[in-house]
Amino acid sequence: AKELGGNRTVFYNAEDTNRMNRRIAIEMGLRPALFLRQFHLSYQPIYRLSDGRLRGFEALIRWQHPELGLISPHEFIPIAEYNGLIIPIGEWVLREACKMLAGMTEYGLSGLTMSVNISPVQMQDPSFVQTVWNIIHEFGLSRQSVELDITEHIMMHSSEQSIMAITQLRAGGIRIALDGFGAGFSSLHHLMELPVHCLKLDKSFIRRIDLQSAERHVVEAIIGLMRKLGLEVVAEGVEYKEQYELLKEWGCHYVQGYLLGMPMDPTVIDTSMLGSFVD
Ligand code: C2E
Repeated sequence: AKELGGNRTVFYNAEDTNRMNRRIAIEMGLRPALFLRQFHLSYQPIYRLSDGRLRGFEALIRWQHPELGLISPHEFIPIAEYNGLIIPIGEWVLREACKMLAGMTEYGLSGLTMSVNISPVQMQDPSFVQTVWNIIHEFGLSRQSVELDITEHIMMHSSEQSIMAITQLRAGGIRIALDGFGAGFSSLHHLMELPVHCLKLDKSFIRRIDLQSAERHVVEAIIGLMRKLGLEVVAEGVEYKEQYELLKEWGCHYVQGYLLGMPMDPTVIDTSMLGSFVD
């Protein structure tokens, strides 16, 4: 228990203390983690539904903490956003993913796209757009081969600066996808306001489409609407063949999920992945 003065006392139980200690360890560990090379990227394949072929990969960050083990990005990204470290970490992710894409092209895996998650905090950095151009140039990539995944949270963080950055990137040929559509407070209003070319349907939405559920009709209708608006749709979290078949029938463009491939280590990616998923 801790005395707060004015006769107020707060009690911490063991669970709270553990949680606080873990948060402190993560905060303290984040700063040297880049320098100590504790981050790595996993790559999850994304497939085209029309022919079952590979469209590209999504880069997903992993942190191997020396004491705490593997920490999920769900846990450390919000902390990195809070203390601003997401800016150097995000730049490292983009450079590493672009280096991987350039390496894959050389290795015979050509014509693929690389999707990279971008935090709203990165978008507020006035040098972000220039950083993107520099990295793409550094690896001699085409701008169309890079897709930046943004979330609607972007609208809550200095949205003018973010919309300006997205508009510049989009005008310069970068692909922009709105991630996590269907989770939380997604709104069509935000979708119309942002110059995106692609919508990623959240896995919480996809989970129940193979059952007789409301989601089934909602997802089918969203895909139809997005096609009318000329937007591409990626369904995330596809785990069952039934979901794959339904999404194909409804005209969804791309799929990602454990059915098609887990996030993988770069060493296991090879040209055998160029074959059709359905073969
Ligand atoms: P996200 O962008 O929605 O990424 C998809 C997440 O779903 C990944 O979790 C992936 O492993 C998981 N997933 C993929 N297929 C399936 C499936 O079939 N079923 C289920 N249940 N899950 C599936 P992960 O890697 O833990 O990443 C979580 C989130 O952390 C990401 O969600 C993204 O928002 C964030 N994140 C990951 N890497 C980065 C990064 O480099 N920068 C930033 N800013 N955020 C990142």
